[in-house]
Amino acid sequence: MNKGILFIISAPSGTGKSTLIQSLIKKISKYKTKISISYTTRNKRIGETNGKHYYFVSKNKFKKMIKNKEFLEYAIIFENYYGTPKKIIKNLLSKGINIFLNIDWQGAKQIKKKIKNNISIYIIPPSINELVKRLKRRGSENKTDIKKRIKQSMKEIKYYIKYDHLIINDKFNIALSDLKSIFISEYKRIKNKKNIK
Ligand code: ADP
Ligand code: 5GP
Repeated sequence: MNKGILFIISAPSGTGKSTLIQSLIKKISKYKTKISISYTTRNKRIGETNGKHYYFVSKNKFKKMIKNKEFLEYAIIFENYYGTPKKIIKNLLSKGINIFLNIDWQGAKQIKKKIKNNISIYIIPPSINELVKRLKRRGSENKTDIKKRIKQSMKEIKYYIKYDHLIINDKFNIALSDLKSIFISEYKRIKNKKNIK
């Protein structure tokens, strides 16, 4: 059986990666795909559901999970823990299901060493001004948190060089079509069809 491909997607917070991944999944419904659901200790935003957007857990529970080696990777971002569950991901990949991970550069670095059959994509906004506008429009963080996220973005953007593909999310439909093209071409790549341990 072919193994699934692990698509690692990173972008500065507010760029639009979650919206792009959700839209892509609908466009490629004829392929076997799933979006990984991470664990986090951050507070639930309005409109978010436990088990759909994240598994929201306490810091104590998260630390126990680290001890039990339940994560493929984890990182501390904006003072909270975020982690990818190991068992579910390995199980889905072994069944030939392609997985999309929405994780930061620290997580991407850890996972690339563990899962060989991976493709990484970095998404950037057209400008910092536009990123601020998107974060404000999303309305999920207060002014202080938006400032923190922008400061962090400025530091992190340099890691794009470590990824396989780069997309600029200016016009949404163009970025979505770029993302779909990458998925299709990687899916059709012969190397990715082999069982890679
Ligand atoms: P991320 O997951 O990268 O933090 P989101 O997917 O939550 O970002 O998107 C942040 C906000 O930007 C959302 O309100 C989303 O609807 C909006 N957005 C996403 N892509 C675009 C785009 N190309 N142009 C304008 N707004 C966008
Ligand atoms: P947010 O709080 O906006 O949902 O996410 C903040 C950041 O955490 C984003 O860059 C997102 O990609 C990253 N993130 C979400 N889940 C995980 C995870 O499981 N591991 C890592 N390393 N980063 C994650």
